[in-house]
Amino acid sequence: MRATLTAMPEFRGGVFCDELDGGRAGAQIEVETGRVRAQTRGGECFELATEACEVELGGASGRMWFVRSGDGALTFYSEAPGFGDALATVSVLAAKVHEIRERDRSKRSRHRALRVLGLVAVLLLLVGGLQGVKVAGRAALLALPTSIDDKVGKVAIETTELGGPVVDDPVVTASVEKLVGRLTEHAEGDFDYRIQVVDASTVNAFALPGGQIVIFTGLIREAESIDAVAGVLAHEIAHVTLRHGVQRIGQALGLAAAVQILLGDVGGVSALAIELVQQGALTSYGRDQERAADREGVRLMLESGLDPRGLIQIFERFAEEQDELPAATSWLSSHPDPRERIASIEALIADSSSGPSRALDLDFKELRERLGIGEQSSEEADGS
Ligand SMILES: [Zn+2]
Repeated sequence: MRATLTAMPEFRGGVFCDELDGGRAGAQIEVETGRVRAQTRGGECFELATEACEVELGGASGRMWFVRSGDGALTFYSEAPGFGDALATVSVLAAKVHEIRERDRSKRSRHRALRVLGLVAVLLLLVGGLQGVKVAGRAALLALPTSIDDKVGKVAIETTELGGPVVDDPVVTASVEKLVGRLTEHAEGDFDYRIQVVDASTVNAFALPGGQIVIFTGLIREAESIDAVAGVLAHEIAHVTLRHGVQRIGQALGLAAAVQILLGDVGGVSALAIELVQQGALTSYGRDQERAADREGVRLMLESGLDPRGLIQIFERFAEEQDELPAATSWLSSHPDPRERIASIEALIADSSSGPSRALDLDFKELRERLGIGEQSSEEADGS
């Protein structure tokens, strides 16, 4: 008899019983014909007669079997593998265990079906959302407050390697601010413009969202007049007011960024913007965006009483020197096809009615001298 008992599989589980300290104890459980026995670690033995037992499946995992006396005073429990099978071998419990398992199986498959349905719904939303972003993305992005541009631009400028010292000569700063002030008199949107002149030979200028604009002394060196500098700045200001940077974020990062922007997670978007800045993606705009910036730049110049031919001058310079200039670091690399653009800007000017010209009270020669590029380049300009 003893030999038979030890041959029975034991299951790790426990006992609920008021007689126990704390009402419960861990136990090893054996299923025998006619009874279920439990022995606690403290050596106490409990027994349930299977004929008077109730069986349940539950617990936190939904996988724990409970065997209970009719009056509920004594309960054994275990979720050890095989415990349910062992209970099913007891003839008086078999039908009950089977029924419980069937119920559990159908419940689980219902849950699985719901999970699959949920997944399909999420996928549909994502696909629908992507379509939506493609179709209405631009409008949705443009409906966002410009404070987003501002925050993105500030984070981006801080992480941008400018490649030279920022010029802090008061004459230079005042001149550039005056120029931008004039150009933004009739600009759309309420942006807080910040222009930095960087002392580097790079023939370049760029705008980041929110009004962060950088112009390099190398580009001022190439400009033949203050109108040419104004042309470049007008074009860059147009990238800001047309919110091309935020649109680039939307295009480059798609739904994820759009969702983050819509949820107002500017922190997350800023992190993405930094990545884009590092890839040069925020300042290399698309062809349509460049054309739009040319158009808006010409409008700003005309409204400001400045000569929009300044923008043509700088493109002519690029067209002439296309081979000489280091293309990779020049405005030319992000603004291709100077000849095509000269033609379309000329057409634009011809179609527009220019307002009264208001001269800028700025000394271009002095500005250049302050930047240490006065004499030599003036001679170059005179000679050409
Ligand atoms: Zn541009």
